[in-house]
Amino acid sequence: MPRPRGHEVLLQVHACAVCRTDLHVSEGDLAVHRPRVVPGHEVVGEVVELGPGDSNGFAVGDRVGVAWLRHTCGQCRYCLRGRENLCPQSLYTGWDVDGGYAEFTTVPAAFAYRLPAGYTDSELAPLLCAGIIGYRALLRTDLPAGGRLGIYGFGGSAHLTAQVALARGARVHVMPRGARARELALALGSSSAQGSRDMPPEPRDAAILFAPVGDLVLPALAALDRGGVLAIAGIHLTDIPSLNYQRHLFQEREIRSVTANTRADARDFLAFVAEHRVEVTTPQYPQKFLTDRIAVFGTTRTVASNVYAEEIRKRCPKVTVIQQVCSELAGAIEAGAAEAELDRLVEAGIAGVLRQAGGEPPHRAILGCTHFPLVEHLFRRHLPPATRILSQPEIVADSLEDYLARHPRYRGDPASLPRLVLLTTGDPEEASARARVFAGDAARGGWRDALSFERLGA
Ligand SMILES: [Zn+2]
Ligand SMILES: [Zn+2]
Repeated sequence: MPRPRGHEVLLQVHACAVCRTDLHVSEGDLAVHRPRVVPGHEVVGEVVELGPGDSNGFAVGDRVGVAWLRHTCGQCRYCLRGRENLCPQSLYTGWDVDGGYAEFTTVPAAFAYRLPAGYTDSELAPLLCAGIIGYRALLRTDLPAGGRLGIYGFGGSAHLTAQVALARGARVHVMPRGARARELALALGSSSAQGSRDMPPEPRDAAILFAPVGDLVLPALAALDRGGVLAIAGIHLTDIPSLNYQRHLFQEREIRSVTANTRADARDFLAFVAEHRVEVTTPQYPQKFLTDRIAVFGTTRTVASNVYAEEIRKRCPKVTVIQQVCSELAGAIEAGAAEAELDRLVEAGIAGVLRQAGGEPPHRAILGCTHFPLVEHLFRRHLPPATRILSQPEIVADSLEDYLARHPRYRGDPASLPRLVLLTTGDPEEASARARVFAGDAARGGWRDALSFERLGA
């Protein structure tokens, strides 16, 4: 349990939204600032204890928000010019200091925000980064009154920013990915929704790139009117291809990056939210979703499923492993049973897993018996569509790897990795080669050296 020190307050966390930056932190796109950090920087909580210092007027029981920016020096040239978001001494929630994916967290009182009434905790949480950063990105575009704004990508941040721009009289053109985002964009009042490389219905005074895709910088610039500004909202962007001066920049078009936000941005945005009802569209997951439910299926002829189940239990204690041994399946397949019979056995195996999990389907299913080609097909037929199925070569090469690499406990500290022996019923050479593709470089966890493969059985 963290303690509030100095000018901090202690919060009981009520809601914490997931931001793409949390993924960049977890996946190593951003340098490790604090090994095993608890991510989460869109935190809504209740003050439960004040530190010994200045609590900035907060009292026990107040509902407050915590955002990405957590500390600035207050003395450097950037801080003194009102650009504290550029402070070289700045610290960030969920990167430098433990964040909000926890029951309790602390925040310096000067960096906590009062929150508007009329919104639930889970509506407020995504406003604290997606909302604030999008707001700063919009300010960075210098969009003129009644101007035409292009928005590339239409996720959490974009759908909030679009509402601010619309409320200020802008015409908004959205380049979403996927039909649902498109529907939402139009329902909120956007003038058009089209592909990111399509010619725009009208030239734009400004655009914001929310997708972390450098390739999109070119069409976004080409779609700007004279004097237009493109703001890039993300903390991470893939490389930008080379620009053509005439097509992309001449006529005083500009590219601007967006770096975090100042506290003034955050307060302005929250004041806007207090005055204008903002629709926050969030899929909500119970907190346990953050810890996967994994079902492992096996037959009595393979012990691989036991190995996987054991490894996952040992390494990822927060993951729920539901194991089901489909004891008759292997024998039935070898005996040449009709598909209907196999179907029934698989269905019974899955029913058993669902029963163990209180009816909740697993997020992933690992099949420990896929050397029978029919098996995967049968499981796919009966598992809910949302359950991702991983067969053995895949679990070796992708999911366990992937899962463990994402798990903060195993990130950034290759020395801490125990040697992991994975058993495979496939060709160990092949499994090993596939794993290398996903293992990444040493900076991402050094899995290549930590993995070895042994063939199971003869
Ligand atoms: Zn964020
Ligand atoms: Zn500073």
